Amino acid sequence: MKPCQNCQTVIDEYVLDKKLEPLRDLTVDDFNVCANCATVVDDACVECGGAVYVPRGDSNVPDFCPACRSERIEQTGHDPGWHRDPIST
Ligand SMILES: [Zn+2]
Ligand SMILES: [Zn+2]
Repeated sequence: MKPCQNCQTVIDEYVLDKKLEPLRDLTVDDFNVCANCATVVDDACVECGGAVYVPRGDSNVPDFCPACRSERIEQTGHDPGWHRDPIST
């Protein structure tokens, strides 16, 4: 059992797993925050229409889910960040 990095409570992996269920590719092992401190927004990814994970301290909902972000990094070798580039051609 590991403590939440944010609020220091012991992470309940069952509850966190339920919370992360809509996210592709991510499991409780990828997280070091508890379910209360993790924010998941359904249907927000501009690429796949899936759920996105809102990083702590970020008030903006990301445009990409973690899976699409890592796909982009793999394909282009370039990290798009959480938000779609506002300058598109
Ligand atoms: Zn927490
Ligand atoms: Zn996506």
